[in-house]
Amino acid sequence: MEKTDAALGEQVRQHMIKVGLETPMVYDRVKQNNDKKIKVIAEHFQAIMEELGLDMTDDSLIDTPNRVAKMYTREIFFGLDYDNFPKCTRIQNKMGVNNSFVLERNINVQSNCEHHFVVIDGKATVAYIPKKTILGLSKLNRIVQFYSKRPQVQERLTEQICEAIKFITESDDVAVYVDGAHYCVKSRGIQDVTSTTMTLATRGLFSEVNSELRREFLNFAHG
Ligand SMILES: [Zn+2]
Repeated sequence: MEKTDAALGEQVRQHMIKVGLETPMVYDRVKQNNDKKIKVIAEHFQAIMEELGLDMTDDSLIDTPNRVAKMYTREIFFGLDYDNFPKCTRIQNKMGVNNSFVLERNINVQSNCEHHFVVIDGKATVAYIPKKTILGLSKLNRIVQFYSKRPQVQERLTEQICEAIKFITESDDVAVYVDGAHYCVKSRGIQDVTSTTMTLATRGLFSEVNSELRREFLNFAHG
């Protein structure tokens, strides 16, 4: 298990609420006992499977409700609980990085859409212009992962990543680009298997529409 920082998580949560970007959730409920949550979700999922007409005595199906409940709480939706927020080691910016950005691209995004509870599969590119502190590189991946592990809409996911990086690095200038394939578009509804959705969130200098900086960022993101 990766290192977490619940205290930082709580600060980020308060910030997210303040800027109006938090996922709609009832946090008292999120904070309920995990074992109880697994039990309740398993019961409900069992009822869904029964209603679909599946034979729940079959040895291939019998453990599915419990398996799904554990997957929801411990794996694909663990990012609802800020106790699981990644530890974000910050180092002093002694390297003189201040005119240029730190950029990380092709960060794996594995999320689930909150409208259909099916997979969003994509990649993110993030950049920020450091001020006093520099964030360990893998921490950018961890922040992307944390917000991906919730029921999501891609627009909000992109904004949340951007705002969290801004808060943690204390940088004014942040950009996040996400390119995602939505399986609710691929496997149902319109059944378009080739389209992807691109979303961009920017702060500070990256927001200046015709700036060289923004162009440079987008070139990297598309590259
Ligand atoms: Zn969907």
